[in-house]
Amino acid sequence: MKTRLNLALLGLLVLRASAGVLDNRVDQYGSDAAKGVDSCTVPDSLVQEIKGYQPIVNKIVSKIVGGEFAGKTWDSLAELVDTFGARLSGSEQLEKSIDYVQEQMKLDGLENVHTEDAPVPHWVRGYESAQLVAPFKKNLPLLGLGTTVGTPRGGIIADVVAVESFEEFETLKPEQVKGKIVVFVPQWEGYGKTVVYRSKGASVASRKGAVATLIRSVTPFSIGSPHTGGQDYDEGVNKIPSACITVEDAEMILRKYRRGETITIHLEMDDRNFEPFVSRNTIGELVGTTYTNSSVVVVSGHLDSWDVGVGAMDDGGGALISWKALTYLKAMGLRPRRTIRAILWTGEELGLWGGKAYKDAHKENEKKEFNFFFESDIGTFEPRGLDFTGNKDAECVFREVVKLMTPLNATQFETPSDGGPDISHWTSRGFPGASLMNKNEKYFWFHHSAGDSMAVEDPKNLDKCTALWAAAAYVIADLSISIPKYVSD
Ligand SMILES: [Zn+2]
Repeated sequence: MKTRLNLALLGLLVLRASAGVLDNRVDQYGSDAAKGVDSCTVPDSLVQEIKGYQPIVNKIVSKIVGGEFAGKTWDSLAELVDTFGARLSGSEQLEKSIDYVQEQMKLDGLENVHTEDAPVPHWVRGYESAQLVAPFKKNLPLLGLGTTVGTPRGGIIADVVAVESFEEFETLKPEQVKGKIVVFVPQWEGYGKTVVYRSKGASVASRKGAVATLIRSVTPFSIGSPHTGGQDYDEGVNKIPSACITVEDAEMILRKYRRGETITIHLEMDDRNFEPFVSRNTIGELVGTTYTNSSVVVVSGHLDSWDVGVGAMDDGGGALISWKALTYLKAMGLRPRRTIRAILWTGEELGLWGGKAYKDAHKENEKKEFNFFFESDIGTFEPRGLDFTGNKDAECVFREVVKLMTPLNATQFETPSDGGPDISHWTSRGFPGASLMNKNEKYFWFHHSAGDSMAVEDPKNLDKCTALWAAAAYVIADLSISIPKYVSD
């Protein structure tokens, strides 16, 4: 009901806008539920206004990619991960890195630098081992999944049931599964489709009496290393240990099982869950000239990581470009009308906890407080453009902004966005948001594995991503209009 009224009101605003009222700082722009790209009816005055930002975008790009800031984002990321290593929720390393980033943000001249509390799960990986004991002996490299329980001391020795899919598993009778280790070997069908085996495999197998699950690592490519990730137990299921093994071992086990061989595994895991821990989101700002604490543009990435690798890619890169975009804009003397707020989320990997706590704490005035959300959490390889999620009116304006990114050769646009897990707390309810589109075809090769290191990050590409982030955030934050949002209550 309320939404419809808002739409009608915004329709009127468009008429006013095209009659030249834009110059009087109309705070919202909209059109009648436009359908396709062609139906965009951005007033020409606004199109021209956005085009007018081209010289500023060019300046931002040349300073960050080819000027005094070139290479600096990579250096700062390397210093962060070399100093603190992996940053798992609940760990001292994460909390120390939060303190460090706060100090560095202050040294960079960011404003209102502070942290806000967020409860996060506290899970600790212990000793983990899996051995194929029959029909021959082989070590099976594995990584327990976040929040998994461990095995009893000394481990468990059990025969294997191997399946390719949940559908295949459904055909099995409970007596075929009871007391067994279930090995799920799904083919890679893209992350979104395949990851359900990692997140739900233990719950599915437990219902038929399995004693543990081992899952093919969720990756399209492997050179023999396992990938970890989150999982959770359904309400009421018996919690059984759950880990990922390598693609190579998982596929071998499935082949052998299908030939009718009896396969036995000795699995020992000392992983443990502790009481939730209070971590912190890290925040710094470039305060707007006109609006200080309303209509804020958020740029974000998550500072926490898995405990394997060092989280340089996931999501050190996203965190650093968000922080450094503000550092460089400030150093260039560029201050937009609205505040740009960098938020480095905590507790993302174990279930988007930092974003949730921030949403809850800022709920009361959120429609006034926030204008637009950016999040980079799908790689910082060579940028291609920006993904967008939001209403058609916001999309039409945003499309014009993306066209400014020609100096970076990053003018591609897609909607809806396939990134932005933390900001989904807002975008799922009608706030507009964007995610960094980049040449991340190899992202899941390294994701959640020991391979997530500085070797994956390229200084030049990181500069380009930072420039894209800084330029897009600046333009959105400085426009004469706020980006339209139709938020459900
Ligand atoms: Zn991530």
